[in-house]
Amino acid sequence: MAPKTMVEADHDSKEWEFAAIPIREGVQDFIVWQFDSKGMHSVKSAYKLQVQWEKQAKSGDVGSSSTHIGNLDRCDDDSWKRLWKLPYPKNVQMFPWRIKHESLALWTNLQKRGIPIESTKCLFCERADEDGAHLFIKCKAVKEVWRDLSMEERIELEKIQSMHVMLDFLWGLSESKRVQILTMWWMWWSNQNRIREGEIPQMAYVVARRTRACALEYQQIYSVKQTARTPDKWRPPCGDKININVDGAFVPGSEHAGWGVVARSEDGHIICARAGRQENVTDAFVAEAYAMSHALSLAANLGVVQVVFESDLQLLVDALDLRKADSSAYSALIEDTKLQLNLWFSK
Ligand SMILES: [Zn+2]
Repeated sequence: MAPKTMVEADHDSKEWEFAAIPIREGVQDFIVWQFDSKGMHSVKSAYKLQVQWEKQAKSGDVGSSSTHIGNLDRCDDDSWKRLWKLPYPKNVQMFPWRIKHESLALWTNLQKRGIPIESTKCLFCERADEDGAHLFIKCKAVKEVWRDLSMEERIELEKIQSMHVMLDFLWGLSESKRVQILTMWWMWWSNQNRIREGEIPQMAYVVARRTRACALEYQQIYSVKQTARTPDKWRPPCGDKININVDGAFVPGSEHAGWGVVARSEDGHIICARAGRQENVTDAFVAEAYAMSHALSLAANLGVVQVVFESDLQLLVDALDLRKADSSAYSALIEDTKLQLNLWFSK
């Protein structure tokens, strides 16, 4: 039977529309971006599409099938706009965009697209299938990074099944939290790529440290608010002053340390306390430095800017002197801590 053409087809029927698409035998399937005349995806064309959808939403013309694919996005979904406002360099900004678009090359995504995969198991734990929720939230390896960052939002995110909804959840958080979580996911994704390429992945504490440093840097450089050129200023004090005791305990001969931080109000009442274990620690100084790093996270989570940090290790107090550059083997950790002190807390 000769194929029907569009002229003969009933225009209300999608079936006829598909039948009218000429099939080229011997040519392999390939993905095209239907909103571009050459079939090539570009940020520009995606932006144009977004603007077009917004116009349609305002005019009430939301039913046009030519600009709607599946159920990926709706006209009333303004999270795209928010994505582009994230304080990120453009290459990082594409990362949440890819999560939203479900286009990250996760093993399960690749399999869904019919790409032959030997195993869809997570490369970190080799226990569960690698989907977004597992890789970024549930995997025991990434849980360590969440712990190092002292971020409790993971518990809430774990209850959510879809990465779409997880991304939406992030908009309910403060900008600094949102940026930190997305930066961590991006770093973790890079870490996963390292394994894929046969390299050794970075340790969780390294990913956590880099996340903190990069998230702060992004906010300083790219945040709209920060373009008012006030990054070097101390934040004005607000709320009551609190004291945070910092303590790291290192056992010689072991490669780990314990850390503890206790936040007290000025009248001595305990507000919050945290403790944990840090791997790959080689001496008491590093143990205390990590404890200090956790103390900073705690203070940031409590939302206080007037803090007195108390450490009994004079070496650390000296190292954190904001006027001097640290040149020890742990300068990255120390300088990162100083940067956070400088940014978030008043003198
Ligand atoms: Zn895993």
